[in-house]
Amino acid sequence: MPHLPAILEEIAAEMAAAPERGRPADYIPELAAVDPNQFAISVALADGQQFSAGDAATKFSIQSVSKVFTLAIALGRLGDQLWTRVGREPSGLAFNSILQLEHEQGRPRNPFINAGAIVVTDAILAGHAPRELLGELLRFIRTAAEDDDIHINESVARSESETGHRNMALAHFMRAHGNLLNPPEMSLGAYFHQCAVEMTTAQLARAGRFLVNAPGLPHLVSATRVRRINALMMTCGHYDGSGDFAYRVGLPGKSGVGGGILVIAPGRASIAVWSPGLNAQGNSKLGTEAVELLARRTGWSVFG
Ligand code: GLU
Repeated sequence: MPHLPAILEEIAAEMAAAPERGRPADYIPELAAVDPNQFAISVALADGQQFSAGDAATKFSIQSVSKVFTLAIALGRLGDQLWTRVGREPSGLAFNSILQLEHEQGRPRNPFINAGAIVVTDAILAGHAPRELLGELLRFIRTAAEDDDIHINESVARSESETGHRNMALAHFMRAHGNLLNPPEMSLGAYFHQCAVEMTTAQLARAGRFLVNAPGLPHLVSATRVRRINALMMTCGHYDGSGDFAYRVGLPGKSGVGGGILVIAPGRASIAVWSPGLNAQGNSKLGTEAVELLARRTGWSVFG
């Protein structure tokens, strides 16, 4: 794709000039302090080439993008048994909603809403100390990215532990329904720390290559699992904005409230984009606009 570097520079310039940038998440105090004027985009191609534009060397909090990695680990460990505890349907509700959970007896709709991700983390914790699980998660991400300089930001984890009352409510509610096997504080501690992993878009794009399913790229999970994770990203990766993201971008993606999005062009590329300002559904506003432009200009939509 000879034009890719130029396309990325163009998109970064357009995003730098955007008048409306959305608002950074403010329910996690450490995230509220991030400068909303930043933007970065990186693309790791199946043939090994990589291109970036904007603030691609700045680390950001990957937050819910971490759920893609924990899901991959959980499927590797538990296989289809995982689905007895969490569903595979879009929720149509906010990332932290408790509403559906009561109607559906504590079994979350999918592994990407917060309740579902807490269950996934709880499932892979079983029998391990949170520290061991976080070590395994970091090893997985570092191997995928071929980069050891990827860490957890303790201040962000602490900031969320001190204020994450909705997630605590979700965890306790699921425990009451027998769908959380470890003490809620333990699963939540691991969950808050996994969300506090920090990466640059360049690192995240490289880490996402294990979901591209192309020869020569890291094969950390089977091709079948990759297809399934991509399907879940397409249908559930943007909370109640998942339909809109599929409509506008046409690629599977997973967003995080830190303003990052990991997007996969199956067989072609892994894309990471970051801008801290969020839209009404809690997904990066400019990040979504940027990948919409990228998908249009490269013709990478899976819908042709
Ligand atoms: N740590 C965040 C929370 O649980 C993740 C949400 C997100 O990134 O969408 O509220």
